[in-house]
Amino acid sequence: MQFKRTMITFLGLATAALAQAQGTWPTKPVTLVVPFAAGGPTDVVARTLAASMSQSLGQTVVVENKLGAGGNVAANHVAKSPADGYTFFIHHNGMATSTALYRKLQYDAMKDFEYVSQAVEVPMTLLARKDFPANNFNELVTYVKANKEKINLATAGLGAVSQLCGMMFQRALGVQLTEVPFQGTGPAMNALLGGQVDVMCDQTTQTVPQIKAGNVKLYGVTTKSRVKVLPQAPTLHEQGLKDFEVVVWHGVYAPKGTPKAIVDRMNMAVRAALKDPAVVKRMDDLGAEIVEDRTNTPEALQAHLKAEIDKWGPVIRAGGKFAD
Ligand code: ASP
Repeated sequence: MQFKRTMITFLGLATAALAQAQGTWPTKPVTLVVPFAAGGPTDVVARTLAASMSQSLGQTVVVENKLGAGGNVAANHVAKSPADGYTFFIHHNGMATSTALYRKLQYDAMKDFEYVSQAVEVPMTLLARKDFPANNFNELVTYVKANKEKINLATAGLGAVSQLCGMMFQRALGVQLTEVPFQGTGPAMNALLGGQVDVMCDQTTQTVPQIKAGNVKLYGVTTKSRVKVLPQAPTLHEQGLKDFEVVVWHGVYAPKGTPKAIVDRMNMAVRAALKDPAVVKRMDDLGAEIVEDRTNTPEALQAHLKAEIDKWGPVIRAGGKFAD
């Protein structure tokens, strides 16, 4: 079994090396694994980039949603995939926070991947279902403190930024709500719209259209300053949750051992997508900020991931919430 796996990996790598030597990679569709449900915010970013990258690579970039364990099923899948240049991974802060959250991770974020590029940074919003009793942030704080035992908080599971933001919100108010995990905030948003859950933190890449349509209640944004796409929305920081800040950042990864020439070519494709006017417009409309070109190198992503692991580890460990 091990021999067979080694042979398959070897053949994959040999083919990749040949394509690379001939300058022909990619010769077939490339898979971009998304760790959350289709239709959610990470998926929106991935599909927007994939459409543009398909053009510059001359092969379709196929988005594959692999769900579970707050993104860790997908991370583990990619870590164990052949390093042949046909599997890539897009993930957010969860790549860093899971290291502290999970006791028995089956992959190592700092050892099992090649780093391709950063992509976009996205603010989060704190929302409630449309008919939730609190009409502004102050009312929310009062209502949540008085009714904590009956409030449901939707998340995309431990490791997801919705859970991280929700955890920080609960901690700031000194309450413990009932967390309802979904396999992405796409399905969590459906539950919020359907009134099955009460509150949720989620990225503007999904929430802006719902906010603009008046389908949800908005209490604030999680960035230190207000965001252009929702100028009416105060930050949580300015409303009293001092220093509350969650910015969602995305990185593109490949399995460890993916040939450098392919990683570099993929890096160029991501960077080209981030300059594509259609991508720029869509990201702008959804409140996502394209990461500066100079921080789009593999080295910068690796350094950023390490810094994020160091930053969030103590915050998460202080929360005392872990999974196996
Ligand atoms: N961004 C979401 C989260 O981590 C998950 C998703 O993209 O569906 O909460």
